[in-house]
Amino acid sequence: MSAVTVLILEDEHAVREMIAFGLRRAGYKVNEAEVVRAARESIANDRPDIVIVDWMLPGASGLEFIRALKKDKETSDLPVIMLTARGSEDDKVSGLESGADDYLTKPFSQKELQARIRAVLRRFGGGADTEVLSAGPLVLDAGSHRVSVGERELALGPTEFRLLRFFMGHPERVYARGQLLDRVWGANVYVEERTVDVHIRRLRKALAGTGCDEFIQTVRGAGYRFSPPR
Ligand code: CA
Repeated sequence: MSAVTVLILEDEHAVREMIAFGLRRAGYKVNEAEVVRAARESIANDRPDIVIVDWMLPGASGLEFIRALKKDKETSDLPVIMLTARGSEDDKVSGLESGADDYLTKPFSQKELQARIRAVLRRFGGGADTEVLSAGPLVLDAGSHRVSVGERELALGPTEFRLLRFFMGHPERVYARGQLLDRVWGANVYVEERTVDVHIRRLRKALAGTGCDEFIQTVRGAGYRFSPPR
């Protein structure tokens, strides 16, 4: 739960394995995709903290993929590092124009790659591990996996924690149960929509007595909204 998740989109098996091996050894969680379609599925199922995309891909290019990611509201905040071939200055420019947050020229060392990943994650607010969200008196620290209201620490189950984290990162928007399932549970996890209600109930119960349970609003016929006081 605490490891930074990296998705690698690279069609060349050997290169992908080399990158994945180094990152795993450094403590990252690594998901791999050979083609754009697989990368899209991977993002939906197990949202990464950062995506590494090779410029040279068969079919839809890495460039188009990055462009689509950055255009989609759901993924526009996902940091992307692009891998380019040596010396292709034009590739770098179009890569950055497409929305890539950084690029790395092949061949590169593991050390270099990990330094870039850390730098981009820092730029995006520290990545998964150091994120601290607050809403009114409610504070969620993703690094230490703690939720507190003032001095009081709250005990939340893992699903309730993920659900609250999602809500706190996306306030004032209504999410249908199906959308919450996709974003919090993962798109390929087959659970019934009423499971969401069960966990909402548990989350409200965990927050009961702090006043923060009222931030989670039921929107009839639509879903749920996290609405803290301004
Ligand atoms: Ca490639």
